[in-house]
Amino acid sequence: MKASQSFLATLKEAPSDAEVVSHKLMVRAGLIRKLSAGVYNYLPLGLKVIRKVENIIREEMNRAGAIELLMPMIQPAELWQETGRWEKMGPELLRIKDRHDRDFLIQPTSEEVITDLARNEIKSYKQLPVNFYQIQTKFRDERRPRFGIMRGREFSMKDAYSFDRDTEGLKKSYQMMFDAYTRIFKRMGLKFRAVTADNGAIGGSGSQEFHVIAETGEDAIVYCPNSDYAANLEAAESLALIAIRASASAIMTKVPTPDKSTCADVAQFLNLPLEKTVKTLLFAADQEKGPAKLFMLLVRGDHDLNEVKASKIPGMAESRFATEAEIKQACNAPAGYLGPVGVSADVTVVADRTVANMADFVCGANDAGYHLTGVNWGRDLPEPLTLDIRNAVIGDPSPDGKGVVDICRGIEVGHVFQLGTRYSEAMGCTYLDQQGKAQAMVMGCYGIGVTRLLGAAIEQGHDERGIIWPISMAPFEVVICPMGYDKSEAVKAACDQLHDDLLAAGIDVILDDRNERPGAMFADWELIGAPFRVVIGDRGLANAEVEFKGRTDAESQNIPLAEIKAKVI
Ligand code: ATP
Ligand code: MG
Ligand code: MG
Ligand code: MG
Repeated sequence: MKASQSFLATLKEAPSDAEVVSHKLMVRAGLIRKLSAGVYNYLPLGLKVIRKVENIIREEMNRAGAIELLMPMIQPAELWQETGRWEKMGPELLRIKDRHDRDFLIQPTSEEVITDLARNEIKSYKQLPVNFYQIQTKFRDERRPRFGIMRGREFSMKDAYSFDRDTEGLKKSYQMMFDAYTRIFKRMGLKFRAVTADNGAIGGSGSQEFHVIAETGEDAIVYCPNSDYAANLEAAESLALIAIRASASAIMTKVPTPDKSTCADVAQFLNLPLEKTVKTLLFAADQEKGPAKLFMLLVRGDHDLNEVKASKIPGMAESRFATEAEIKQACNAPAGYLGPVGVSADVTVVADRTVANMADFVCGANDAGYHLTGVNWGRDLPEPLTLDIRNAVIGDPSPDGKGVVDICRGIEVGHVFQLGTRYSEAMGCTYLDQQGKAQAMVMGCYGIGVTRLLGAAIEQGHDERGIIWPISMAPFEVVICPMGYDKSEAVKAACDQLHDDLLAAGIDVILDDRNERPGAMFADWELIGAPFRVVIGDRGLANAEVEFKGRTDAESQNIPLAEIKAKVI
């Protein structure tokens, strides 16, 4: 391809709303442009990367025996009413009406539609197992879309759904997807980890997330460097976390005037060190992504908190866990909220993140029905403390006994679930077994954030000059930079020839025929992140040499023109 036939749209400045490096670089390199909050145009170069990601996913899904199909973005509410998710899903679900006043939604995920398809098409055990997948646009009305396309509202996901005769079959299908995911992320050259996770709103019995390791990740992962043990915070079994969870629940049940309490009050009341109290609340806030959820956690008396034995909490052997009614009474709920403005304001903002959390906090408080305006920090609420949840957990023994745990941050790029029969039972999705008896199909579901992967890869691969793509994802593998394309016949001829040769060898090459100044041209390609650059000028050509540079090489080197192909294949 020639640059004159492509569309390069690099920018000097990043948009002011860009908080993380991947968002800044994706806009500056001309991959995306914002249309609306969490909704982006994919410019030609961005789309090119998306297609490469899709191809890797498609190849590995096909290799694992999954079969591609496509389900509509717009789905009728009836199916979602069958599973109860029409009512259960909150404002993240975008609901729409047609001209006949019928309810529809834009799919955030497709369990209902695929289960409907399976119950209509699959009758016999002979048709099982089967695994369907699609790569399709999703919409989730995220409370706080951010980080560019990493937490978009409209985004692209690969979602697969397996149907098996029994649980044993499901385990095999699940393992096949797990292995396919491992191959996919390896091919993308990413540093990642599979971590044990909670099933959350989707339901079912077991799940693992795939996280790309990055400081800017929204999730914390507890892992053991000496073994495969890794879990996200919800699922982690660290003793410190158990204690922290337990004391969070205890705080919920014990604070007398929660809406007025500060962290220090809570600490005093509980007779716990302030640091421990703050960590507790920090954990709960961080965990639940803001006080709105914290509130729910508090009022619900969350189940996993109730499972924790009080004896595990230092200094709290006497504590017991209150019932939901007791909690509601204690905090004057439901109209009132268990004090997070006072209690957690000083907590949310201390996370090992940036000021962005403050905004989160405010959103969260608003979601919960608390409108938090004009707070004067230090006067109305305590100044933020600086504490880090890591300290509470790092060094705990790993549950597998193979060492101690550490914490890192990750970006969730994939998630595999064993669903079991939650959807097939709700929707009557059955097959006839060998005895002619109807049985519920046993399901799994498997997602990959196609567009999120671009951001995740850039979080891992960049420097001060721009993006460092893994070759398998780069919008172009090689850029040819002519020194005077329109000035020197020899340069033009050599560039055109190399371009055609590389193209014929299956290399994704671009020839920059824009006649830009060398400095500007090089800066553009370092920003865009072409893995290899070949500079061709009259001086080198006199010796049949060109200048070659890998994106991460400190210096370029002069090498014979004839050797370029071998260098980049
Ligand atoms: P998160 O915890 O980040 O909100 P999720 O657990 O809600 O993600 P899943 O329902 O597991 O997401 O969806 C499968 C995959 O889709 C996720 O692993 C992630 O890679 C991607 N994904 C989810 N939400 C978004 C989003 N708002 N923008 C981009 N990708 C997303
Ligand atoms: Mg989500
Ligand atoms: Mg998640
Ligand atoms: Mg998930």
